[in-house]
Amino acid sequence: MIEAFIFVFGLIWGSFFNVCIHRLPKEQSVLFPRSHCPNCQALIPWYLNIPVVSFLYLKGRCAQCQKSICWEYPLVEILTGVVFLLLYLRFGLSTQWVGYTVFFSGLWVSSIVDLHHQIIPDEISIGGIPVGFLYVLWSGDILWWQSLLGIVAGGGSFLAVSWVYEKITGRDGLGGGDVKLLAMIGAWLGYQAILPVIVISSAVGSLVGISLMVAKAKGMKEAIPFGPFLAAGAVVQCFWGDKIGEYLFPFSNG
Ligand SMILES: [Zn+2]
Repeated sequence: MIEAFIFVFGLIWGSFFNVCIHRLPKEQSVLFPRSHCPNCQALIPWYLNIPVVSFLYLKGRCAQCQKSICWEYPLVEILTGVVFLLLYLRFGLSTQWVGYTVFFSGLWVSSIVDLHHQIIPDEISIGGIPVGFLYVLWSGDILWWQSLLGIVAGGGSFLAVSWVYEKITGRDGLGGGDVKLLAMIGAWLGYQAILPVIVISSAVGSLVGISLMVAKAKGMKEAIPFGPFLAAGAVVQCFWGDKIGEYLFPFSNG
């Protein structure tokens, strides 16, 4: 029963994340005005704004103008429910569950925004830095100075990589949003996580990038946003970092 409750709790947050995904890049408030149809601007009453259920009931169309609603809305809701549930199965109802649902939600929302708009909202990346530091103080998962050093190492190391990349290629490869996102990841996971997260996300990013080029799904010039790979790297590091670290980074296991 508690599993069902957690899943529904995730669906409701997923519904809010949809609002964030569409409004944060436009610098709009995520609280006001209430949800409305992007096509006809009609306000959506609460009983037609129930995650997934309303989408199925309306057969994926706006009740006013009948314009089809993007399938991404229910997908984001369902996947958020799944993430909340998986974290519950892993951590139970604990400090870690609260912390990681917040952390993963930030990574998840910024990844989708990055895929759509090639930006990472400051509200999440910069906003997530103090939230992460407070979580570390609250949970004691890592020491406070490891979190602070993580912010500096995350922001600083990527800034350095970005600078070198620009000097060599004369192109902007890494956005400022990526730098801030890695600083946020450092706040949550500590400085020890920065090198593994960069290695994992670069490896996954290269594989996906090469696959896309081979498949010619994307033009060579079109940049693939790096935020989702950083997010994936952070998630992998959270769950399997210890094991990976034992093999690859014996020196960083302090
Ligand atoms: Zn409409």
